[in-house]
Amino acid sequence: MNAPEAVDIIEAARPAARRSRQARVAWGDHVVTVGGDAPVRVQSMTNTDTVDVIGTAIQCKELAVAGSELVRITVNTPEAAEAVPHIREQLDRMGIAVPLIGDFHYNGHRLLTDFPAMAQALSKYRINPGNVGKGEKRDRQFAMMVEAAAKYDKVERIGVYWGSLDQELLVELMDQNARRPQPLDAKQVMYQALVQSALTSADVARELGLNPDNIIISCKVSGVQDLISVYRALARRCEYALHLGLTEAGMGTKGTVASATALGVLLQEGIGDTIRVSLTPQPGEARTQEVVVAMEILQSLGLRSFNPSVTACPGCGRTTSTTFQELTQQIDDFLRAQMPVWKSKYPGVETMKVAVMGCIVNGPGESKHADIGISLPGTGEAPAAPVYIDGVKAMTLRGEGIAQEFHKIVESYIERRFGTATAAH
Ligand code: SF4
Repeated sequence: MNAPEAVDIIEAARPAARRSRQARVAWGDHVVTVGGDAPVRVQSMTNTDTVDVIGTAIQCKELAVAGSELVRITVNTPEAAEAVPHIREQLDRMGIAVPLIGDFHYNGHRLLTDFPAMAQALSKYRINPGNVGKGEKRDRQFAMMVEAAAKYDKVERIGVYWGSLDQELLVELMDQNARRPQPLDAKQVMYQALVQSALTSADVARELGLNPDNIIISCKVSGVQDLISVYRALARRCEYALHLGLTEAGMGTKGTVASATALGVLLQEGIGDTIRVSLTPQPGEARTQEVVVAMEILQSLGLRSFNPSVTACPGCGRTTSTTFQELTQQIDDFLRAQMPVWKSKYPGVETMKVAVMGCIVNGPGESKHADIGISLPGTGEAPAAPVYIDGVKAMTLRGEGIAQEFHKIVESYIERRFGTATAAH
């Protein structure tokens, strides 16, 4: 047999860098930078009635504790606008400084003018140019919202949506397209309309005096390929920070996979400065699931580290017991539950890698790649589970209490490795 040809050097894949302007979304001393060289931020939105001050404040807190760095709330009525400063107060009382974003449609110009305490309590206004009004009225009402952002020095997100696109602009572009010798596909005209609506609105906002660093753009659509097309076009044409999300992603597995696919492609190309995963919660599912998924997307791409990662094999015919599934779940739950405390107690713990494997085939190898790993016995193997620490076999566990013992080993590893880091700081 001839020797195989040497393989060329393979470059390590990594997300591309895109430098946008940097916005500062702030509440008091707590500043969340978006864009520029800031990490990609995780955002979420409440689904409570904003008039319910306590319910909304509690959900904002849950989302923030889960890892959401910015939380958006609906501001749709005078009652909701009145509730906003009280929600802010409740959060401040609970020690939650997460900046709040107001979501405005149709009447935002009036609410931002009539309720100055609300305008001040929010850190960012989200405005949809398609839902601001029509004709001259639209220009005046859009200007009122921009003036409020400029007056209170707030960041404004110009958020264009596929489902509420400026119809006048769309009709104009469709007419122009019909006059072309070779008209474009209707979808391409829709892409143009989305991007043009966002960028023209940003130009108008700047002309009205809004600091360009205080502008963030989004153009959300519900199709994966559409989102990729639109954001690539946006990123080529502007330097504003971009908020990224697949709108109406759907429920459960479908919503999670569609969001991860679309966002993964764009983030790898360096496109996107904040993300939201718009999951429809399944009955009984926590709203915080959208935050968990957003964090997992960023962590999977190596863009950020939020929690220690647990590598586990899928299991196969070589393991008939569910021990490794249970142990994986326990370890994952344990690590996530401890993170709010560990974040400050053990700096760097979020970068730790744990492996829980089902048998000898890949178990020892994968465990050696992790910081700490266990290779459980598969069917027919001796009832022993070697544990690897920092790539070296450290011990072998046996008997009924393997799960509990491994748990303790992980805890003492964290204490030893990351606790020392605390002392050194
Ligand atoms: S490590 Fe073993 S049990 Fe797990 S998938 Fe591979 S062969 Fe199957």
